[in-house]
Amino acid sequence: MPFASVYPLVATRALARPFTYRVENGVRKGSVVAVPLHGARRRGVVVDVGVEAPEGIDPVPVDRVVDEVPAPLVDLALWLADYYGSTPGRALALVAPEKRARRGERPQPGDRDALAGEARPAALSTSQSAAVERIVGALGRSKPALFLLQGATGSGKTEVYLQACEAALARARGAIILVPEIALAPQTVGRLRARFGDRVAVLHSGLTEAERRDERERIRTGSAPIVVGARSAVFAPVPHLGLVCVDEEHDASYKQESDPRYDARTVAAKRAALDGAVVVYGSATPRPESWEHLERLELGARLSGRLPPVRVVDLRREAGYPLSAPLLAELGALVERGGKAILLLNRRGVAPALHCRACGTTLRCPNCDVSLVLHSGGTLRCHHCGFAERSPETCAACGSADVMRLGAGTQRLERELERRMPELERIRLDADAVRRPGAVAAALRRFAAADRAVLVGTQMVAKGHHFGGVSLAAVVDADTGLGMPDFRAEERTFQLVTQLAGRSGRDAPGRVLVQTFQPDALAIAYAARHDVSGFLAVELERRRELGYPPYRHLVRIVAAGPEPDAPVRLLTELRDRLADPGLLGPAPLLRLRGRHRAQLIAKTDRPRAIAARAAELLTGAAAAMRRAGVTAVVDVDPQSV
Ligand SMILES: [Zn+2]
Ligand SMILES: [Zn+2]
Repeated sequence: MPFASVYPLVATRALARPFTYRVENGVRKGSVVAVPLHGARRRGVVVDVGVEAPEGIDPVPVDRVVDEVPAPLVDLALWLADYYGSTPGRALALVAPEKRARRGERPQPGDRDALAGEARPAALSTSQSAAVERIVGALGRSKPALFLLQGATGSGKTEVYLQACEAALARARGAIILVPEIALAPQTVGRLRARFGDRVAVLHSGLTEAERRDERERIRTGSAPIVVGARSAVFAPVPHLGLVCVDEEHDASYKQESDPRYDARTVAAKRAALDGAVVVYGSATPRPESWEHLERLELGARLSGRLPPVRVVDLRREAGYPLSAPLLAELGALVERGGKAILLLNRRGVAPALHCRACGTTLRCPNCDVSLVLHSGGTLRCHHCGFAERSPETCAACGSADVMRLGAGTQRLERELERRMPELERIRLDADAVRRPGAVAAALRRFAAADRAVLVGTQMVAKGHHFGGVSLAAVVDADTGLGMPDFRAEERTFQLVTQLAGRSGRDAPGRVLVQTFQPDALAIAYAARHDVSGFLAVELERRRELGYPPYRHLVRIVAAGPEPDAPVRLLTELRDRLADPGLLGPAPLLRLRGRHRAQLIAKTDRPRAIAARAAELLTGAAAAMRRAGVTAVVDVDPQSV
């Protein structure tokens, strides 16, 4: 029996090395095996077969083979562990997730998550044909290629994905379609199912263990060569992968915020390199990174009609926040003539803060340095740690009853609409309103069927839904994101406003309103003109001057501990020992969940080297950190800083 090198799927860094086992003939790289390890039974992934046994060791046999994953996925996971500073065991667990026993036949989850699809169009537009031709040409060469498919909402990106999938299938290759959140993409799932039937598998976090197992089995055996799913579907065991489409490629949810802190967009490019596949990144508002680095396939304007004119409402001159007079006038017109509106307010709850007018105190979370958000029913909630308490009648600091509600959230907006425009049906779409599975699809169906209705919600309402009859789209407060101390604040604001503006008037002359206290902010001014390339040009220039991505990489190291000084002290020591000229900080961060935090940022051309060196220094400091209760994470290419 040959020997194989096996990584056990364990999180412990102390076991982050391969072990040698005896295997039967036929076991190969990518076999998932059950192995004995230090007296316990573990799963492990074979990374190499035919290795020598280490000196003086007589390897034991593996118990049995429990699963198989395609060999390129093993290389992908090992690369991921290295690039993002994780362990091979944790990274391999992404490509070989735990598998439960089968329990009878179940309906395929694709049926539940889909809205009705559209028929195949009789003909493509000129720019669609050109894009499809370019992608299909690259597929034919079986060499890795990356494209940016840029086009306004309604310009027909999905049809390009569908025809690229057909071309992949015709070459006996599989495809993965990544979407930010499957619940927000029922129309995309519906169109895939309408075109490819049960050759489409759906993967997302809402599946039961058994459903996930069935879908993975259909993918692995090739009976479902097309996979649609959120971030982690990039690891789907598709044999002979030919195509990955990343829809809404600007969306921040493609980055995982826990170890392994991978970015599915970067992983897709790496997977394409390993499989000789093509990646199509699609967006109306691409990331500056993609705009700068990828070959662009531009679809241009929407297929039917022009993009709607955008009116910027200057809240410094208009009273009536959150519903200004111009917005009320537009809503009034809907009541008269019929039609639908989408209102975006990127803040949940009734009011984002309570403020005492007598002593100036703002009510804060006891565990986090953020204000508590007032929710309906008089509950105050922390949006970071989940802390909740009854809203007090009087100020806890001075006893005054003069406690004021600052700003507005979606619940207050819904209430104001009920008061001012009772004739319009209100449908709210935010994390509070759609906790139950299936609630998003239900809300979207209600909105699609309504005749006079307002969809009110957070950024969820701006994501790729397509509805007929939406004649008004409004950003209630465009300033919520601009105040964030993050170099992506402008990019995010531009994306959100532009995405929402694209929602209006798919089949009617639409109106778009943007309410803001900063009408001159570049992100808002460019979004109001639908000027994507103009915004990206100024944004890229700014990034070049400041040394931000795509010109340099960022590595972020965050330390947290129970005492205020320890995180800063640890990071200061780390900074001195890393001795890199691109290091910024350490700077203290908001306290979260009772932990004091600080961050050190590196702007660098060699993120792996910095991350590896930082991880090594942190491992050396592990004992002292444990004593002080301090933890640290290293994040390569972070999405927020
Ligand atoms: Zn007070
Ligand atoms: Zn909190």
